[in-house]
Amino acid sequence: MRSPAVYGNWKMNLDFVEAVHLTQELGVLLRRTPLEHVEVGVAPPFVDLRSVSSVIEADRLGLVLCAQHVNEYEAGAHTGEVSLAMLERLGVGAVLVGHSERRRLYGMDDALVARTLARVAGAGLRAILCVGEDLAVREAGGEAAFVAEQLRAAIAGLAEGARARVTVAYEPLWAIGTGVVAEPAQVAAQNESIRSTLAGLGFDAPVLYGGSVTAENATDLARDGALDGFLVGGASLRAEAFHAICRALDDCYASTR
Ligand code: PEP
Repeated sequence: MRSPAVYGNWKMNLDFVEAVHLTQELGVLLRRTPLEHVEVGVAPPFVDLRSVSSVIEADRLGLVLCAQHVNEYEAGAHTGEVSLAMLERLGVGAVLVGHSERRRLYGMDDALVARTLARVAGAGLRAILCVGEDLAVREAGGEAAFVAEQLRAAIAGLAEGARARVTVAYEPLWAIGTGVVAEPAQVAAQNESIRSTLAGLGFDAPVLYGGSVTAENATDLARDGALDGFLVGGASLRAEAFHAICRALDDCYASTR
């Protein structure tokens, strides 16, 4: 396991007051039971970033502030969009790129994912590249090839210097928000395939798993899933559950070093 990390994707949940409360609650838990190894990040909605950033700074929480998306362009006539420079000014250190909900609901294709990834990683921020197959692909046995193609499309043109800033999040669509979690063996197999695709492209990256991760299944996944951490949706909206997932990974990392 490389340096382990857990990121919470709050999606379109929590207004700025609720976001501040959740960050403070998480801060209390992290102070009470600190993590030894795991890097923790939170990805609030854009409108909450400023408030969450203030809490992280004021309470010295050491959390990585993450954005859920960013526009590929620097500035200009892109109504409703947010630029990377705006995020950097707010202390954002990581950005989710190509989350399946952006791909599926908002037309983010492989080419746009690649351009966005290049912008984020090229600017020195951590880019969390989300990949994963849907149920039809999985049932047809095509999951390894599908994800390999997503990776190649996103990464092939990435500048050498930007590569170290990429983290891959394997998120099978059939497991996101469904309560159906992938078996650790399925995660391990897909992670192995992802690593071999990355190696074929000449680099290595941490690989997270996302899809209905909870405090209950995190230990098994961390132990047997051959992964470097988690991207957590639903469970990241509850401080105790999210902290328990982080602790499960922390314990697992400590016992395998
Ligand atoms: C996600 O949206 O990235 C995710 C993994 O969601 P959930 O944990 O709710 O399945």
